Amino acid sequence: MPSPYDPRMNLENPFWDRNDPPFLSVAHGQGAYQNTLNALQDLPLRNIRGQRVLLKPNAGRPAEPGAGITTDPQVLAAAIDVFQQAGCEVSVGESPITGVNTLEALEVTGMAAVARARSCPLIDMDARPAVPVNIPNAVVLHEIKLCPEVLEHDVVVSIPVMKMHMHTGVTLAVKNMKGCLWRRSKVLLHMLPPIEGCDEKPLNVAIADMASVLRPHLSIIDGTVGLEGLGPSAGVPKPLGCVVVGTDAFAADAVACRLMGTEASLIPHLRLGAERGYGTIDLSGLSIHPDHWQDWAVSFAEPPRNLTLEFPNITVMDNNSCSACQSTLLLFLKHHARHLWDYFPDQKEISVAIGKGHTELPEKTLCLGNCTGRHKKDHIFVPGCPPIASEILNVLTGRPDPD
Ligand code: SF4
Repeated sequence: MPSPYDPRMNLENPFWDRNDPPFLSVAHGQGAYQNTLNALQDLPLRNIRGQRVLLKPNAGRPAEPGAGITTDPQVLAAAIDVFQQAGCEVSVGESPITGVNTLEALEVTGMAAVARARSCPLIDMDARPAVPVNIPNAVVLHEIKLCPEVLEHDVVVSIPVMKMHMHTGVTLAVKNMKGCLWRRSKVLLHMLPPIEGCDEKPLNVAIADMASVLRPHLSIIDGTVGLEGLGPSAGVPKPLGCVVVGTDAFAADAVACRLMGTEASLIPHLRLGAERGYGTIDLSGLSIHPDHWQDWAVSFAEPPRNLTLEFPNITVMDNNSCSACQSTLLLFLKHHARHLWDYFPDQKEISVAIGKGHTELPEKTLCLGNCTGRHKKDHIFVPGCPPIASEILNVLTGRPDPD
């Protein structure tokens, strides 16, 4: 039986009386650790002594620190220090993307080491059973499976890294909360059918639905090194040297958007959530410290709109696929496109099919995902819904899946 909406998740915010403007602060130029301390320094912390604080960084993938894919460990270290010194019981938790082990990702990203050094527990939020939560008035996402730790902590802090995102424009504090959805249930947001009579991408509407019940009490957005272009994992690192702190996740995301050279009004999930009143993305009239924060903006390259332009001689046949399959393909091409020719030595063009309902396919098409399964006898088929990028290489090399 799904739980009713739990108001602790976003209505009672110990840092912010919603009758007041949100706290918004940007720090720059002092390194990841000191920037984070500086951005947090004027946040009133007296109300949270003795409370349980869950820090939710982006450790969704096992990426090395500095690659712009995961949160800088020194940002996390500073956040742990600040909340521990404020007398809180602090934990770090994550539920990563499908196929990634949480604790392994926390190790590789450098976050486990800084947490251990501070005796701060690391939580694999996929380990225990999920809590189903209803979303009243949802448009497409009527229920989520929530990691239980979100409800067991008094304060949840979203600590994303500033990234462009091929499906959602950017990924920041609001979207980072998707990593509080249990295991594979987060993939369902990428697999929703088109919404009748609505031009919005279902994924963006689903994130806005999610944000109606799942918003952080505080956002610490790591702009030490962000990711431009093919985010969330196949882009180019972009040094920015900033940290943004905000009590309204939408406003904090709007500040980060401007630092990245874009506007929150152009990001559908932020626009939709703000229209529904979950936060504000209109920065006019808000006090953002310091006054000259916009001097630190740089322009992040947008994600390319056409994969075939990005990867010449590879023809992607995308027939109504989910963004989950697109992400797998993109990740695979980013890392292996150059070597793909080793497996197709006689071909000038390589065809890849994703999505549903393909009929005729060119010879030796690489068919990714269960939706292309009807072609498995005649082509090269990689199963999965979505398939896992590493499994594509296993199929091509004939190696068995290690699992
Ligand atoms: S195989 Fe890919 S396109 Fe098909 S339902 Fe699964 S994720 Fe979507």
